[in-house]
Amino acid sequence: MSQDIFVSPQWTRNAVVESGSRLEFHIIYRCVDQCIFCSEETSMKRLKGIIVPREDVLSMLEKKRKEGFEHVTLTGGEPTFYPKFWEIAAFAKNLGYRVFVISNGWGLSQPEFAAKLLPYIDELCLSIHGPNKEVHDKLTRTEGSFEKLMGAFKNVEAHPARHWVQVNHVVTQHNVKYLPRTLELFSRNKKLCQFLVSNVTPHGGAKPNYRDLAVPHKAITSQIPTLAKIARIRRVSLRFYGIPVCLLGPYWRYSNDLFFSPRTTIAKTTQDNGSVDWLFERAPYSYREKFFPKVCDSCVLKGRCGGIYFPYTKIFGNENLKPFTVKSLRELSDMSNS
Ligand code: SF4
Repeated sequence: MSQDIFVSPQWTRNAVVESGSRLEFHIIYRCVDQCIFCSEETSMKRLKGIIVPREDVLSMLEKKRKEGFEHVTLTGGEPTFYPKFWEIAAFAKNLGYRVFVISNGWGLSQPEFAAKLLPYIDELCLSIHGPNKEVHDKLTRTEGSFEKLMGAFKNVEAHPARHWVQVNHVVTQHNVKYLPRTLELFSRNKKLCQFLVSNVTPHGGAKPNYRDLAVPHKAITSQIPTLAKIARIRRVSLRFYGIPVCLLGPYWRYSNDLFFSPRTTIAKTTQDNGSVDWLFERAPYSYREKFFPKVCDSCVLKGRCGGIYFPYTKIFGNENLKPFTVKSLRELSDMSNS
């Protein structure tokens, strides 16, 4: 199969570095938001808000850089709550990492904080789940969280440094109908490069409420033509996570699974004896909570596609998974290029 089938949509504002060795470093287990689908909720409860000591963070960053890691994602919890977080980002940047921060916007909503941090980060992901405070704050269960995000967006847009900025939008029954409005609103920001539509993951905080949160794939996929049109006009890359690639139809190249870079997660975790120690986890592909039903066996994208969430199939079934052949991929590519 020729590689040109895997090229990403052309209207990306600029390219993210996806190659090289990626680290995902959880440095703090505290947050003010209480998102109903928080994927880290279990760790945050178990680790009771610990902050990884500064000297441990710095020495681990140094060690991993020497081992050849080039890209670091600083995350938590909410990493901007780490005391003097900009010093951690600056340290990583000076070691030669490309620095990516995942945030709910609380720290960056303060102009002084933003001015200290933004020179040291290359990529930023802001978690946004609706077009207004009524929708967003309901999902974060935190009054004022939407306002903070808007403040963060404004500060990032105004900063002179070049940043690759992504929105991560988790889709649930509560916000699925607002997807076009949300994309419309945030793609106006001059720095937005990518809008990631993440189907809610049956993990962490979402696990016990998954039945009340999950939407059928069709509720998202039926909106893709509208979303793609908005993204094209605004020159923003559109990606989908948590939906089997074959269900994206002619938009299959918008699947985030196809761009997943293997990564090593570093976190603190509790051991069997109750002590807290490092956890290293290598994720070679996008597999979290997913599996491949029998029908996937003949699919040429099995493994590049991460499969389907097992709890999803318990509620909605396998739907119409349609294994790809080389021929069907070419036909769909021709359709989306025409
Ligand atoms: S058939 Fe299976 S492996 Fe292939 S794209 Fe669909 S879900 Fe993914």
